[in-house]
Amino acid sequence: MVFGFNRNCNEDADTRIIPLLPLRDSVIFPFSTQCIYVGRKKSINAVTACFSSDRMIFVITQRNPSVEEPDEESLYGIGTLCQINQVVRLSDGSLKVIITGKRRAQLINLVRDEEYLKGEIEELTEISGFSEYGRAILEKVKTLFDNYCKINRGIPPDIAEMVVALDNEGRVADIIANHLNISIHEKQSILENLNAVDRLEEVLSLLNVDFEILQVERKIKSRVKKQMEKTQKEFYLNEQLKAIQKELGYREDVKSEIEELEERIKEKGMSKEANRKALHELKKLKMMSPMSAEATVVRNYIDWLISLPWNERTEDKLDISEAENILNEDHYGLENVKERILEYLAVRSLVGRMKSPILCLVGPPGVGKTSLAKSIARATGRRFVRVSLGGVRDEAEIRGHRRTYIGALPGKIIQYMRKAGTINPVFLLDEVDKMSADFRGDPAAALLEVLDPEQNHAFNDHYLDVDYNLSEVMFITTANTLHQIPPALLDRMEVIRIPGYTELEKLNIAKHFLVKKQLNAHGLTERNLRFTENVLLKIIRNYTKEAGVRNLEREIARICRKVAKEVLKHGRDYSVKITVSKLESYLGPIKYRFGVIEERDRIGVAMGLAWTEFGGEILATEVTVMPGKGELIITGKLGEVMRESARAALSYVRSRADIFGLESDFYQKVDIHIHIPEGAIPKDGPSAGITMATSIVSALLKVPVRRDIAMTGEITLRGTVLPVGGIKEKILAAHRAGVSTVIIPKENDKDLKEIPGRILRSMKIILVDDMDDVLKNALIYESEEASERRQGFLAKEEVFPEKIEADIIA
Ligand code: ADP
Repeated sequence: MVFGFNRNCNEDADTRIIPLLPLRDSVIFPFSTQCIYVGRKKSINAVTACFSSDRMIFVITQRNPSVEEPDEESLYGIGTLCQINQVVRLSDGSLKVIITGKRRAQLINLVRDEEYLKGEIEELTEISGFSEYGRAILEKVKTLFDNYCKINRGIPPDIAEMVVALDNEGRVADIIANHLNISIHEKQSILENLNAVDRLEEVLSLLNVDFEILQVERKIKSRVKKQMEKTQKEFYLNEQLKAIQKELGYREDVKSEIEELEERIKEKGMSKEANRKALHELKKLKMMSPMSAEATVVRNYIDWLISLPWNERTEDKLDISEAENILNEDHYGLENVKERILEYLAVRSLVGRMKSPILCLVGPPGVGKTSLAKSIARATGRRFVRVSLGGVRDEAEIRGHRRTYIGALPGKIIQYMRKAGTINPVFLLDEVDKMSADFRGDPAAALLEVLDPEQNHAFNDHYLDVDYNLSEVMFITTANTLHQIPPALLDRMEVIRIPGYTELEKLNIAKHFLVKKQLNAHGLTERNLRFTENVLLKIIRNYTKEAGVRNLEREIARICRKVAKEVLKHGRDYSVKITVSKLESYLGPIKYRFGVIEERDRIGVAMGLAWTEFGGEILATEVTVMPGKGELIITGKLGEVMRESARAALSYVRSRADIFGLESDFYQKVDIHIHIPEGAIPKDGPSAGITMATSIVSALLKVPVRRDIAMTGEITLRGTVLPVGGIKEKILAAHRAGVSTVIIPKENDKDLKEIPGRILRSMKIILVDDMDDVLKNALIYESEEASERRQGFLAKEEVFPEKIEADIIA
């Protein structure tokens, strides 16, 4: 390369002065023919002067294209000696000149002339010569240029051919440089490079860069083109489809429906994911025939997405004292329960976000679990929805079916969220203990996800197939018993027990709530219908037998219905006061005798206390002893635990045979039949142990059991009485039945705290820790003989024949 050459370096060389043509924005290479436009006055003069003489002109490029009258400084040092082939004068006076470059020349001096510029120039000789290296570069450049021409359509085909045919490195370099898309400065640098191989190398690197740029551009262009083609194709097909549908006559409706759907999707404010999904489905819908089954499926799906609440929420009421008032307004008593609910609400409103555990209200039917949940909704100002999970055994009922199924729907959770219409309702999951699992999956597992505050912000229903946020929902669950709730589910919940009401509580609930509610529901006023306290009490005692108040409410409703009919018959002023004597005419004969206790003390019959999911119950246990061969018959649909308990009771009696004055082989001569009535109802659990033992002893000794006593407790082979559950419910049941004395295991005395003092005062509670204490209190030794036995029994020694125990274990 020649840089910064010395203008006076070659004083002796051949120099000549010829017209000079400065170019603003191009470089002319030797052997290239180009068309240039000449507009400057002096340049026009120069071209005209040359054209009329030897047609040779020196063309040189300006360093700065904006200079109008260039001096030496503003011109590069090397230019090209050119021949003018053709000149055409254009209408504006400028010239179109076709010139061919001949040789490189150096500007020695710029000669200023009034008419045109002239340059004193010296022609330059190239440095070239044969070298292997030069050949190799030449081949490489030729191949690359060949490829370059294939993708650069701007290069005339004969140029490519010419390059392939040429053997001269310098010329090849010049031709290619002339066609490359490079800057003026780069072109000039190639022009100034007198070493042919060197120049070719320079061109190779520029060619490489240009080639790559061109390739990338081509790739982008083809991608854009493809995309455009696809969009055009889609547009075209869509237009065709529209035309066909219009011909078929239903295009207009569909269009408006689709537009409406689109608008609703945009307005809805769904999550980003749901929005994307909805628009995607809408796009599919547009292409479908609107009458097809598939279109209905897609439309339904979009409908579900639109009708779910995504942002709609109610403002939370955070006033605890107002919440307290509401709970009191709706429910009588339940002080502990209300207190815990208020604490729970307080924490939730302080914490703000809902990471607190889920409330689980546990108790027998009709104790107000559902209505408490409703009150919680009212107290917090939230909407209320209730889903019953009783009998749910399929996971899909919670989580929905995939859309591939015919008639698929979202699960219950999403269905009821739509019903709620807000994302923060109080959501009651009723009867969680009644769910069960089978081959269709475990609904409890799906419910775990719903209730887990860590996961439920992104609940995935199979039908919706987009995450739905359940984290603002206040879930409340209810159950009758806890033992059927899967432990993992129970772990998420805060259990609040509602054990059942006492007679007095029921009376108050009826007086203050149920009567008013039913009067309202039947369009009656307090003037139309009045109940006396005694009537309500009689309904409670003789027409219902329950831990809650649902049947009580139902019986009151029955009376209201009858009175409503009378009011219609006799006019608005009709008024009736229900009295005990009139009650049967409204409700029919009594259903239950109050106090199921026996009318007299009986042999072989003892009262047990059981606990079922409907609350406490009194169960009579009957035993008969018949001549036989030592068989133990157990009837009354008893569960396995209860049967084992019966055997344990018998073994205890056998182990005490001598103390009871029985022959040691007494059991081989008799059959003992234990029966617990109401045989259709399944019963299980260990707590009837002491009752069965008492009945067996009573039957064997022919000593009656006191009729006003009831008992509960598990028995061991040694006669120890172990604690049992459900004491409160059992004592309430005993009280309902009019029992005056209750025997319970000593270790259960802590449970007595939960029982209203009034009830405890009205009955005698005997705490026992072994079976002998039970018998002492329950059996009545009337006869002398029996009395003697009793004496012997009281002065008993602790004898536990090892042999019998071993028998039983075997
Ligand atoms: P559960 O859900 O426990 O089966 P519900 O909530 O359906 O019971 O209650 C049955 C009826 O008894 C409802 O009308 C309810 O208002 C009423 N009720 C229950 N407990 C009370 C109470 N403590 N005070 C007032 N009404 C009550």
